[in-house]
Amino acid sequence: MLVQQILKSKGSTGVISVMPSAKISEVSAILAEKHIGGLIVSADGDTADGIISERDIVRVVAQNGAKCLDFEVGTVMTKNVKTCGLDETADAIMQRMTDGRFRHMPVEDNGKMVGIVTIGDLVAARLSELSMEKDALQGMIMGH
Ligand code: AMP
Repeated sequence: MLVQQILKSKGSTGVISVMPSAKISEVSAILAEKHIGGLIVSADGDTADGIISERDIVRVVAQNGAKCLDFEVGTVMTKNVKTCGLDETADAIMQRMTDGRFRHMPVEDNGKMVGIVTIGDLVAARLSELSMEKDALQGMIMGH
C-alpha cells in the first residue's frame, strides 16, 4: 500500500500546523482539542520548519516546570523533520518510523506538505490489508 492511498482513506484535508512563535500552552490546547499527538511547525504553512509532539512537551515540562507553557514552540520543536513522499510504501515508512523511534511523518509533494501519516494510520492500513488477504485466501480454499 502507498502513502497516497493511506491519506485518501483518512479523508485527509491537509495538515494542521502552528507558527514557530506559538506558545507551548497553545500547542497543548490544540493537541488536546484535536485528539492528536503531534503538530507540524511551519511559518508559511507549506514547508515544515519542525515538529512538536507530546513527547517533546513532556520533556520540556520535566526540565523546566510550568514556566515552559510560555516558551515558543520554535525553541522546543525537533528541527530535523523526516518527511516522506506520496509514492513511498507503507512498509518503508513504518520501518523508518521504527528505526527513528517517532510516530508522525509529514507527507510532501513537490516541496509542499500535503498530509501527515501516523504509526496508527499505518497499523490500521496493514490490518485492513491483512483482513482482505485472509478473506481472499479463505475464498480460494473454500472454492468461492
Ligand atoms: P513521536 O513518537 O512522534 O511522538 O515523537 C518522538 C520524538 O520524535 C519527538 O522528539 C518528536 O519531535 C520527534 N519526531 C516526531 N516525528 C518526527 C519526524 N517526522 N521527523 C523527525 N522527528 C520527529
